[in-house]
Amino acid sequence: MKGPARPGRFPLALDRLAGAGKPASTELLRPQRPLQHAADHAAGKSAGVPQGLGLDSATVRARMVARLRADGIACEPVLQALAQVDRHVFVDSALANQAYEDTSLPIGLSQTISKPSVVARMLALLFEGESARTTGHLGRVLEIGTGCGYQAALLALLGRSVVSIERLKPLHDKALHNLDGRRHGGLRLVHGDGRLGHAPRAPYDSIVAAAGGDELPEAWLEQLALGGRLVAPVHDAARGGQVLLVVDRQPQGLVRRWHDAVHFVPLKSGTA
Ligand code: SAH
Repeated sequence: MKGPARPGRFPLALDRLAGAGKPASTELLRPQRPLQHAADHAAGKSAGVPQGLGLDSATVRARMVARLRADGIACEPVLQALAQVDRHVFVDSALANQAYEDTSLPIGLSQTISKPSVVARMLALLFEGESARTTGHLGRVLEIGTGCGYQAALLALLGRSVVSIERLKPLHDKALHNLDGRRHGGLRLVHGDGRLGHAPRAPYDSIVAAAGGDELPEAWLEQLALGGRLVAPVHDAARGGQVLLVVDRQPQGLVRRWHDAVHFVPLKSGTA
């Protein structure tokens, strides 16, 4: 996998968020910083007495990345982004000690933050699309299912601009808060029905969905740029479950490929 790991303006913007974007080396030079303390800091709470878990988050993230690498994730920009974004900041502080395990975790309203290996796999698949292979970044990105905003933070490091849509207002608000409550730089969080995509900023070089339906919404295909790639969980009747579907828009038309079996929350219609 070639290309710059931290393209464009986002790393600078993300440096101001939740401690994401800081080079791991900087963090490693600091004294051990308990996760709870970091989460409080990111949430804008006063420093207070550290009461956390005694783990340095850069170290545990590096360990998570090493596991993903050992499990076959070979896309360097994705691994570097995963090493930079503080996943524990995006989950409830009571779950922060599980943030770097390869597990999905509840984020409220019966929704979950996807497990790191699945996030890594989806982002690595996006990077294998024609545009990303040519440019070394994900370009203009559309994410459906912001949830707590973790994957949006990764996408902001990997793309040039990101629109992320969430249908549940409380989660949209939570993501705004987790991402410092600002629509900084090229990361735009939208409360809406992601099945409609987001026409004002179309077309997109990369489209990724974190919720799965019975079929791909037509709007996503319409909003996919030439050379662009879409990765989404879709129910596959033949396999009797959800499967990652990859769609490329090539000059001769749309090319679809089915990949791994997955288990995402359902893609629902409307907003709430
Ligand atoms: N990427 C997220 C994962 C969130 S889980 C993260 O990093 O945390 C998937 C999310 O998709 C849920 O929050 C769910 O509410 C949302 N979702 C489901 N259907 C949707 C739709 N039609 N439009 C936008 N969001 C949707």
